[in-house]
Amino acid sequence: MIGLKDSLKRFYQLVRETTTKEEGSLRFKAKALAVSEIAQQYYCEKKVEMNRIHGEKETSEMRLGKEAHELLLKDTVKIKLEELWRSIYSGKPVCPREMPLLGKHNGVIIAGMADAIFFYGGSPLFLFEHKFTSKQIPFKDHHFQTGLYCYLLHLMGWDTSRLKYALVIAPPACREDNGLRRIPSYVIQQPKEEKLKVRLQAGNANIYINRFEVKRVIDDLNWALGFWTGERSPIPTKKTGKCVTCQFREVCESSLVRTVSRTVIEP
Ligand code: SF4
Repeated sequence: MIGLKDSLKRFYQLVRETTTKEEGSLRFKAKALAVSEIAQQYYCEKKVEMNRIHGEKETSEMRLGKEAHELLLKDTVKIKLEELWRSIYSGKPVCPREMPLLGKHNGVIIAGMADAIFFYGGSPLFLFEHKFTSKQIPFKDHHFQTGLYCYLLHLMGWDTSRLKYALVIAPPACREDNGLRRIPSYVIQQPKEEKLKVRLQAGNANIYINRFEVKRVIDDLNWALGFWTGERSPIPTKKTGKCVTCQFREVCESSLVRTVSRTVIEP
């Protein structure tokens, strides 16, 4: 674990590096990548490319998710970054919501913001990420996104050897439930559990708790960065269901459900 001053210095250095560059050397001249965008590659990499080319339209699911995350911030107090760093380094228990995370892996700057992180003794012990969906199990992109937040904490210099992450999956109807904000303290009190269930007014929140495994995240990240560095073309999903609900289903050349007729030019 590095000291407070070095940790802040490292953070601001990366902020400067991102803001002073006109354009980056990654695909689409990206200067830095967001954790959420990298995680989407595990849903459909082709869609990541289409979002960059055509612009991402906000879906009702995304709007609901945004609203829900804003509700989770209710009654929280905004503090300066230095103040947050000082309270973490004091060793006292602290659980910041939407803490900015920034790290550099193989020359690529990656930024993210986890829903909540519980620090104790100056180290992160639990990282929380909420998903509001009717499907009550986490998918690969959810695990990867949350693991990548943990990896950023590692790159920022914190001791992540005891870090676990909790994926909180709740139906969209539960997004206004005040009980959601009590989930971090509920999980922290039961550090050995791998799966917990919390009854909310409009359904249950299922909580999946996993240990952060740095090697697995690095392997997955290296695969994902192959797209950004131009080593390989984007890989489309093989699942028809994803194309059925995709906003690009009629323009994407890899779409499994495209209905647009293609003109055949006779020789
Ligand atoms: S249509 Fe299918 S393959 Fe194309 S971007 Fe959408 S989900 Fe991916």
